[in-house]
Amino acid sequence: MSDFDYDLFIIGAGSGGVRASRIASSHGARVAVAEEYRVGGTCVIRGCVPKKMLVYGSMFAEELSHAGNYGWTIEGKSFDWKVLRDFVNADVDRLEGLYGKTLENNRVEKYLERATVTGPNSVKLASGKEITAKYILVAVGGWPAMPDIPGVEHCISSNEVFHLEEQPKRLLVVGGGYIAMEFAGVFNALGSEVTVINRSETILRGYDRGVVERLSEIAQARGIQFKLNANIRSVTKQADGSLLADLGGETIEADQILIATGRKPNTAGLGLETAGIKLGVKGEVPVDQYNRTSCPSIYAVGDVTDRVQLTPVAIREGHAFADTVFGNKPRIVEYDHIPSAVFSQPPLAGVGLTEEQARREYPNVKVYKSDFRPMKNLFSPNAERGLYRMIVDEDTNKVLGIHMVGPEAPEILQVAAIAVKAGLTKADFDATVALHPSMAEELVLLN
Ligand code: FAD
Repeated sequence: MSDFDYDLFIIGAGSGGVRASRIASSHGARVAVAEEYRVGGTCVIRGCVPKKMLVYGSMFAEELSHAGNYGWTIEGKSFDWKVLRDFVNADVDRLEGLYGKTLENNRVEKYLERATVTGPNSVKLASGKEITAKYILVAVGGWPAMPDIPGVEHCISSNEVFHLEEQPKRLLVVGGGYIAMEFAGVFNALGSEVTVINRSETILRGYDRGVVERLSEIAQARGIQFKLNANIRSVTKQADGSLLADLGGETIEADQILIATGRKPNTAGLGLETAGIKLGVKGEVPVDQYNRTSCPSIYAVGDVTDRVQLTPVAIREGHAFADTVFGNKPRIVEYDHIPSAVFSQPPLAGVGLTEEQARREYPNVKVYKSDFRPMKNLFSPNAERGLYRMIVDEDTNKVLGIHMVGPEAPEILQVAAIAVKAGLTKADFDATVALHPSMAEELVLLN
């Protein structure tokens, strides 16, 4: 019998923590997890899942407005934010229950309270209980980074957006990353007046410029206003309850201001210094490729390590950690060819190198593209065009990256990502017969 209360104590029951707990337990470890908010973590409770449901809800606006050309008459259509919000939140409750069941079914003990590290093998719960463990896994995720400006308390982050009492008539979104673009798309589709403020010229940094430019043209045509190279300096609440954002020389009125200027690792007050762990400049926990910190008994996975902040990556890291430490199967996560999407309207998705990255690494890069009007749009007033771009190393014909914007882009890209990960060539794509009529066929018809 070990001298510790548990073999593994996990702080945070999110994407990485839950997976690690389940796998470690299946390898025979005695596991406990502490969760200070709700089991499931950011993705399930206030990230990917409820966000995607809001996207689905908002997409009916476009479908309904185009339905007339397909012969449908829909009288008296209207939208009720509270119905969508409550439906989404009810499903989040259901998922939270399922995640709790997963822990129980895998004999993982859960403590629904905050935990902090008190040494290499010990944690303390908010209730005061001290627990020892042979290993500790830090899987505490991230938290919205809010700017230090007067009046920031009147603004919301993505945490609060799922619970708004009313749909804002005028929404100001601060930030140009994927979370900003996704919520801008949702509320624009639902009929809110949306303005996006970004401090630089570039939105969606890190994504392929070609598809980002197309998205930004479409977003503007759909009525989203952009203020680039602009900074929010302060926010004032006015007598009628509306908000006034000062951009220095210009003010904007809004009913809500959503700050989406990035996320920071959730390490404040976590006590990692008691185990000799020095945090990185952003507050992240530095780890090696096996997710081990500088303290041999403490590991970290997911957003808190500030590597790739995506749910499937946190899950893989949690799984690899558990296999390595408890399954006698040392495993590392591969970080190349991770597909990702922006659930904007239309959505954007990409895998592998962007054109800019490829040109830095390869001397001869060729970009193939298809710029097309999706068939679905032909009967509708929507003249938006999809754009697919394939980045190819001319010397080997190998596909280095694929980037697309258009309806269903994430669904199509996930499949294309297998081919890119497998190292297939442009000739392999060309040799594949098209599936007609589809949007995905554009991938084998690129020139
Ligand atoms: P989390 O899932 O954040 O879990 C950490 C958990 O630890 C939380 O439940 C937290 O309450 C708990 N915790 C923190 N500190 C303590 C403590 N001291 N004691 C006890 N518990 C603690 N990713 C995608 O792949 N696709 C998407 O479409 C996508 N959309 C997103 C949309 C939004 C609005 C946001 C905010 C994120 C989105 N993400 C998306 C990112 C994704 O949610 C994260 O990458 C993922 O949840 C990270 O998992 P994690 O295990 O590292 O942490």
